[in-house]
Amino acid sequence: MQPTNCHQCNAALTGNNWRLLPTAGDDALVDAYFCEACWPTALATVRHALVTADASEFEDLMQAAFIRAYLQARDIKLASPNDLPHPGGLAADALRWLDQIKARGGFWWRQVMCSGCYQTSRELNITTIPWWNSDAGAYLSTYQCPTCLPTGIADTRARLARNANNDVVLICALLERYAVFVHEYRRGDAADTLIPIVDAVLTKLAEGSLVLPIGAVA
Ligand SMILES: [Zn+2]
Ligand SMILES: [Zn+2]
Repeated sequence: MQPTNCHQCNAALTGNNWRLLPTAGDDALVDAYFCEACWPTALATVRHALVTADASEFEDLMQAAFIRAYLQARDIKLASPNDLPHPGGLAADALRWLDQIKARGGFWWRQVMCSGCYQTSRELNITTIPWWNSDAGAYLSTYQCPTCLPTGIADTRARLARNANNDVVLICALLERYAVFVHEYRRGDAADTLIPIVDAVLTKLAEGSLVLPIGAVA
């Protein structure tokens, strides 16, 4: 499936840099395709509609429910699919999903193979974490589905606990490939200083408050 033109500027979409985003249709959110230049504005428009909808509680509920329905129809694993949060909670939940899409550079629909169970899942369901690969003798990025993520993070924490003095700098180096910079690592601080920082980074990755995006592929 290769979309042809940007929904916003009509530029021809080539390669794999286009983004798929929910866009307001007649009575629901529908798929639309955007170029590299237009997708941030398109996502902000969806977000804005959600943020400004809270003048009326019903509108708030509907806008958020549309986003939830759109994502659920595209195999996104919602935390409690059959249990709608109260209206305010529903909007917060929908905004959180949009922020997760933004954190992935607008890529969220692609199918990614989980490094733990080898099942494919939508990119928005996937968490990228550093994981020790003994064959490579290095920390590599691995992709974890929601089921495998707790074990994946636990593996990395266990490896780190055994080899922290050596490993913290390796993880910091991997993070830099995602433009996540640890100042204390750059200035050459000792492992003792870096260990709690890397531990906090792993917590953020597990919670989704920090995302290592997979990014565009050739
Ligand atoms: Zn465009
Ligand atoms: Zn998995």
